[in-house]
Amino acid sequence: MEVRTRFAPSPTGYLHLGGLRTALYTYLYARRMGGKFILRIEDTDQEREVPGAVEKIYESLRRAGLHWDEGPDVGGPCGPYIQTQRRDLYLPYAKELVEKGAAYYCFCTKERLDEERRKAEAEGKTFKYDKHCLHMPKEEIERRLAAGEPYVIRQNVPLEGKAGFDDVLYGHVEVDCSTLDDTILIKADGLPTYNFANVIDDHLMGITHVTRGTEYLSSAPKYNLLYEAFGWTPPIYVHLPPVMREDVRKEKDGTLIPDEDGNPVMITRKLSKRYGDPGFEDLLDQGYLTEAIINFMVLIGWSPRSEREFFTLKELEEAFDLEGINKSPALFDMDKLTWFNAEYIRRLSEEEFYEKALPWISQGVDAEKFDTRRIAQLLHDRTEVLNRIPGMISFLADMPAFETSLYTHKKMKTDPAVALEILKEVRPVLEGVSDWSETTLHDTVIEWIAASGRKNGQVLWPLRIAVSGLANTPGGAFEILYLLGREESLRRLDASVAQLEA
Ligand code: GLU
Repeated sequence: MEVRTRFAPSPTGYLHLGGLRTALYTYLYARRMGGKFILRIEDTDQEREVPGAVEKIYESLRRAGLHWDEGPDVGGPCGPYIQTQRRDLYLPYAKELVEKGAAYYCFCTKERLDEERRKAEAEGKTFKYDKHCLHMPKEEIERRLAAGEPYVIRQNVPLEGKAGFDDVLYGHVEVDCSTLDDTILIKADGLPTYNFANVIDDHLMGITHVTRGTEYLSSAPKYNLLYEAFGWTPPIYVHLPPVMREDVRKEKDGTLIPDEDGNPVMITRKLSKRYGDPGFEDLLDQGYLTEAIINFMVLIGWSPRSEREFFTLKELEEAFDLEGINKSPALFDMDKLTWFNAEYIRRLSEEEFYEKALPWISQGVDAEKFDTRRIAQLLHDRTEVLNRIPGMISFLADMPAFETSLYTHKKMKTDPAVALEILKEVRPVLEGVSDWSETTLHDTVIEWIAASGRKNGQVLWPLRIAVSGLANTPGGAFEILYLLGREESLRRLDASVAQLEA
């Protein structure tokens, strides 16, 4: 049996990280089993569709490297792969269910349903459709259909008994039919609901494994009743636990919801863009590398059952299995992602890093005026996320204001007074350097330090601060002097001396 998996997003927005992880697991399982990965767009809820979202989903999946074997714009034997383009295909199946008694026409008006809902609420009950139209005589149905009255088709869930299904992670899941509602299968606009379309399409597309979020666990028994009514074999279900995040309790607009004493409350909640969590594209825009995001996301909820942490997508295609998926909700940890990212950045070749870093370097300094290759070399080992680069190098473009207390360093044996003395002494030495290269700067200054009987740190610490204004910089004094150039270096040195004398 060929394994066929599908990722079936609704185009209601960008690809969020939970969605990316579902897509990733779905893709990886198909690859691991030598099967097919299918992309299906579930757009039957037209009201919720966001313009441009379909294209965004394609783009995100491509950027993630998850190429689909069948789907929109690549085609395949089970197309079309966009549900609204399959719209005429669902009604005959719904009618077949009506014939079988597993579904029925419903002509109830919105007013009636609203009234019923209101009554249920007043009694403190969850609203459940009362099968009002179930026993309508055939002639009346035909007459009303012929008259063009709006209708829906509902699933006829048995009043008694149990409905269940088997899940790879959750085992046998079973509910009392009495808890299930007669879900609408075909809406008044003629389109199927998700509840119907997912069953029909999974069957027609020969899907063997359904991987999706646990939010569908409670509806899956109903889907299985449909499979049974059709006499079809249901797919193997793998419901994936949600990706969670620890956060302070807050409103969607970011306002804190503190406890009675006004203290922030830590909670664990589902990862969600509405609370400001980044989506996949956001992370890419911030300078997280695709490979790092993929590696990090796969390990949220899946374990290779070894100490191994680093996997390329190719390696995951060999290693991934359903047994390694963890049933309990997984925690998204931004620091861990950043750690992975820094590792992946370090593993880039010098050239690869330069290419990725250059747009960011250009945001921090005027790339025409600086040796950007040298800047990139200095940044390579200390860059965790690319978007931090401009902040790390902006001191090269503009000398930051700083306090003279920065010169105080016990181990280096410097303070503002020592610094002033040293800076005044070293200035003519620097001025005398004719070839402003790192090597010459280094050799000249180090030689002078040796001759002066001082320690390197005692000179280099204040020197670096005097020209950078910072305690931490990518590169040391010589690299910074070189990057700034002779004129700017001396200008900064003079200004810093003046500041110390003031
Ligand atoms: N269209 C559903 C969603 O976006 C997918 C559910 C499924 O995979 O069956 O949540």
